[in-house]
Amino acid sequence: MPQPAWPEDVVARYLTLSGEIFRDPSMYVEVLRKDGQHSVARCRCCTYDTSRQHDGRAQDMAQAHAETCRALPKPTA
Ligand SMILES: [Zn+2]
Repeated sequence: MPQPAWPEDVVARYLTLSGEIFRDPSMYVEVLRKDGQHSVARCRCCTYDTSRQHDGRAQDMAQAHAETCRALPKPTA
Protein backbone atom coordinates (compact mmCIF):
# COMPACT_ATOMS: atom_id res chain seq x y z
CA MET A 1 0.00 0.00 0.00
CA PRO A 2 1.54 3.36 -0.98
CA GLN A 3 2.26 5.93 1.66
CA PRO A 4 -0.01 9.01 1.60
CA ALA A 5 1.58 12.18 0.21
CA TRP A 6 3.63 14.37 2.52
CA PRO A 7 2.37 17.97 2.67
CA GLU A 8 5.10 20.58 3.11
CA ASP A 9 4.38 21.20 6.79
CA VAL A 10 4.83 17.54 7.74
CA VAL A 11 8.09 17.04 9.60
CA ALA A 12 7.88 13.36 10.49
CA ARG A 13 5.57 10.37 10.63
CA TYR A 14 5.61 7.39 12.93
CA LEU A 15 3.71 4.25 12.08
CA THR A 16 1.39 3.26 14.93
CA LEU A 17 1.37 -0.17 16.51
CA SER A 18 -1.97 -0.85 14.78
CA GLY A 19 -0.48 0.24 11.46
CA GLU A 20 2.37 -2.19 11.98
CA ILE A 21 0.00 -5.04 12.77
CA PHE A 22 -2.23 -4.30 9.78
CA ARG A 23 0.69 -3.27 7.55
CA ASP A 24 -1.15 -0.07 6.77
CA PRO A 25 1.10 2.97 6.12
CA SER A 26 -1.87 5.33 6.47
CA MET A 27 -2.02 4.64 10.23
CA TYR A 28 0.53 6.98 11.71
CA VAL A 29 1.27 9.82 14.09
CA GLU A 30 2.24 12.92 12.18
CA VAL A 31 4.46 15.79 13.31
CA LEU A 32 3.50 19.10 11.72
CA ARG A 33 5.47 22.32 11.74
CA LYS A 34 3.27 24.92 13.32
CA ASP A 35 5.63 27.88 13.05
CA GLY A 36 9.38 28.40 13.11
CA GLN A 37 9.89 26.92 16.55
CA HIS A 38 6.90 24.76 17.39
CA SER A 39 5.65 21.48 16.08
CA VAL A 40 2.56 19.50 16.94
CA ALA A 41 1.93 15.77 16.85
CA ARG A 42 -1.40 14.31 15.79
CA CYS A 43 -2.46 10.70 15.55
CA ARG A 44 -4.56 9.72 12.54
CA CYS A 45 -5.99 6.76 14.40
CA CYS A 46 -7.20 8.33 17.67
CA THR A 47 -7.73 11.71 19.32
CA TYR A 48 -4.10 12.12 20.43
CA ASP A 49 -3.10 15.70 19.68
CA THR A 50 -0.32 17.74 21.28
CA SER A 51 -1.43 21.08 19.85
CA ARG A 52 -2.68 22.27 23.22
CA GLN A 53 0.62 21.59 24.93
CA HIS A 54 3.59 23.89 24.76
CA ASP A 55 6.19 21.23 24.52
CA GLY A 56 8.93 21.33 21.94
CA ARG A 57 9.39 17.58 21.95
CA ALA A 58 6.63 16.80 19.46
CA GLN A 59 8.70 14.21 17.63
CA ASP A 60 9.63 12.34 20.82
CA MET A 61 6.01 12.44 21.93
CA ALA A 62 4.81 11.28 18.52
CA GLN A 63 7.20 8.35 18.54
CA ALA A 64 6.21 7.36 22.07
CA HIS A 65 2.53 7.51 21.20
CA ALA A 66 2.94 5.58 17.95
CA GLU A 67 4.67 2.74 19.79
CA THR A 68 1.65 2.19 22.03
CA CYS A 69 -1.36 3.28 19.92
CA ARG A 70 -3.63 0.38 19.12
CA ALA A 71 -6.52 2.55 17.91
CA LEU A 72 -8.23 1.73 14.65
CA PRO A 73 -9.41 4.70 12.60
CA LYS A 74 -13.10 4.74 11.72
CA PRO A 75 -13.53 3.79 8.06
CA THR A 76 -14.54 6.76 5.93
CA ALA A 77 -15.78 5.03 2.78
ZN1 LIG B 1 -3.23 7.13 18.48
